[in-house]
Amino acid sequence: MQREPLVDGHGRRIGDVRVSVTDRCNFRCQYCMPAEGLPWLERDAVLTFEEIERLVRLLAEMGVHDVRLTGGEPLVRKDFPQLVELLGAVPGVEDLSITTNGYLLERDAEALVRAGAQRFNVSIDALQRDRFFELTRRDALPQVLRGLEVLAAFPEAHPIKVNAVAMRGFTEDEVLPFARFAREHPYEVRFIEFMPLDADQAWTPESVLTGEEIRALIEAEFPLEPEPREPSATARVYRFADGKGRIGFINPVSEPFCGDCNRIRLTAEGRLRTCLFSLAETDLREPLRSGASDAEIERVIRDAVWRKELKHRVNEPGFVQPARTMSAIGG
Ligand code: SAM
Ligand code: SF4
Repeated sequence: MQREPLVDGHGRRIGDVRVSVTDRCNFRCQYCMPAEGLPWLERDAVLTFEEIERLVRLLAEMGVHDVRLTGGEPLVRKDFPQLVELLGAVPGVEDLSITTNGYLLERDAEALVRAGAQRFNVSIDALQRDRFFELTRRDALPQVLRGLEVLAAFPEAHPIKVNAVAMRGFTEDEVLPFARFAREHPYEVRFIEFMPLDADQAWTPESVLTGEEIRALIEAEFPLEPEPREPSATARVYRFADGKGRIGFINPVSEPFCGDCNRIRLTAEGRLRTCLFSLAETDLREPLRSGASDAEIERVIRDAVWRKELKHRVNEPGFVQPARTMSAIGG
């Protein structure tokens, strides 16, 4: 069934949903989770596969054709490839992708590709084992790199993106190793500016290593040429001038791209968030579980989306950091 397109009150047409399939994670990245973890949701608080499928189907009928599965760590959700298969079969879902820390890719890459996952973002913040351990609090770099290799063996999983969060005082030493990594492997490395969504609330404006600073560090060694940019794309992508690979910069803090934002998010317990930095959210689990019709749920979604924030206020005085961390939102 085709429904009216989903638009917000600023005229932006929503085409992309990030679905968090679990709040749990096997890593404890410093910029995301505290060392001791967070109180996890009870299992029955988390949406079932059938509930996620119903919401994704409704959204797809409203023109939301890009679906990214994330978390927490999505691969720790039991039988996750089954969910991928279910969502891949939803009419109107054109692009089904996964963001993962890669720890379980060695085990799951094949099942996920076979289930219909089309694109993968693998998060790796350091290419030296001890520094990876320091940041993620897990000594897991070799395991993650093995997973990446297993994934890379599937031509249908390409292009594979490798995402690194850029933090001042840490990432500077990783910039050139990542540039070389991008030149030597078939991966597009993208640096993401550190955002105030960390559990420890340690973020400060000064702790962001900006995309522009990183680009300058790379450019001094390897000349870059810009690639054309799609309006709703989050990354500024460059190719190495000698033709060896590409590198990208996601600069939500220094160069916000809210004006073209076409994204919404669904948390693991079924709350709709219209911005990463939303202070309010809309519960979809209650209507789902109390027998609401598709038309009723559609109305709740449309009302929430209509109020989507014009832009984030990270750079403004009085900015309030959301209570949820990135892991509990679904980044
Ligand atoms: N666990 C998976 C992973 O790490 O890829 C998926 C969930 S994770 C929350 C999604 C992405 O958000 C990762 O690329 C992670 O690096 C990024 N992220 C988490 N906290 C962040 C922060 N405070 N600022 C910028 N990016 C962050
Ligand atoms: Fe886990 Fe991903 Fe957060 Fe790291 S960034 S703690 S891997 S959810």
